[in-house]
Amino acid sequence: LNRRLAEFGTTIFAEMSALAQKTGAINLGQGFPDTDGPEEVREAAVRALRDGRGNQYPPGPGVPELRTAVADHQLGRYGLSFDPDTEVLVTAGATEAIAASLLALVEPGDEVVALEPYYDSYAACIALAGGTRVPVTLRPHEGRYVLDLDELRAAVTPRTRLILLNSPHNPTGTVLSRAELAAVAALAVERDLLVVTDEVYEHLVFDGEHVPLASFPGMRERTVTISSAGKTFSFTGWKVGWITASPALVAAVRGAKQFLTYVSAGPFQYAVAEALRLPAAYFTALRDDLRAKRDLLSAGLADAGFEVYRPAGTYFVTTDIRPLGESDGFAFCRALPERCGVVAVPNAVFYDHREQGAPFVRFAFCKRTEVIQDATARLKTLA
Ligand code: PMP
Ligand code: GLN
Repeated sequence: LNRRLAEFGTTIFAEMSALAQKTGAINLGQGFPDTDGPEEVREAAVRALRDGRGNQYPPGPGVPELRTAVADHQLGRYGLSFDPDTEVLVTAGATEAIAASLLALVEPGDEVVALEPYYDSYAACIALAGGTRVPVTLRPHEGRYVLDLDELRAAVTPRTRLILLNSPHNPTGTVLSRAELAAVAALAVERDLLVVTDEVYEHLVFDGEHVPLASFPGMRERTVTISSAGKTFSFTGWKVGWITASPALVAAVRGAKQFLTYVSAGPFQYAVAEALRLPAAYFTALRDDLRAKRDLLSAGLADAGFEVYRPAGTYFVTTDIRPLGESDGFAFCRALPERCGVVAVPNAVFYDHREQGAPFVRFAFCKRTEVIQDATARLKTLA
């Protein structure tokens, strides 16, 4: 492994899912739904396969049907207008969108400001691009994780190239408020920064609303917005994601993407194009279902003795294990399958300042109700 990657080892998601398989524990670690997305969307994928749509290399930027559906979604939902031909790029999941954006936009030595704890691929991709990450730590305060805007301002230096934002935020479940986003936007404009914003949980907001960063004054031209069908349609295995941005930024990201995957899998793109046109009721039902599961898991974890940071969005709950007499989330998560048959993820892996994340553990609730009930009953035996 080269020097840039050596510090990262194996992702925590692979490690913890392997542990779940080995022990037969309930996997609330890696975030993936245990129920697949809508039947009609699966049928659309089968039809595309059968009709020979996308079985050979699709166009580099993505099939026109999907690019148009993405543009229509941004317009219909947020009033943001993007040209499907020049301002939308289909990627192999949000993961590739993140990698290609950072590889395209970051020069060796550039600083990238990212919210900590951060999704694990951010640090690795910043490193691959030769950049330096500058974490700004979200801190627990009165039951939620908050962004200190002064710390964010202080993190920006003349070497800062871009801010890598994520809201709704994995792993904390924080949804940045309109005022917080406006402050981030104002800072980006004032300091002439690009922003790459990971909005894959845009449809999973339970309290408040999702406001795209690109909708703030001065942001349309300097923002790369990332989303994915994995979260919104419960098809994490399809690996269909996309970005929306200005023509210059899309061209830059495409310049990197073409040498990573060249194109993303064809038939699934046609199916996701149909999915994005599902009626509003689909999106509301998805959110309401997950809100109920958030409440169920949060209550169950509190009952089992954890301190719970009730998430406003995403499908993760962050907890503090200190009320259980524990302080090392890593050790706790490695022992948990044997102790009570549940797998979770230690938040420390999402920190540069690992000690800051040490007592925090993340549980996913994108699971069937009875699975969540079973898991919380098992966790209750810890006390
Ligand atoms: N960003 C965040 C914040 C995520 O949580 C995930 C999925 N866990 C991704 C990106 C990756 O998305 P995809 O599966 O579409 O590559
Ligand atoms: N995004 C999911 C999570 O945070 C898993 C993604 C992955 O396995 N790379 O758990």
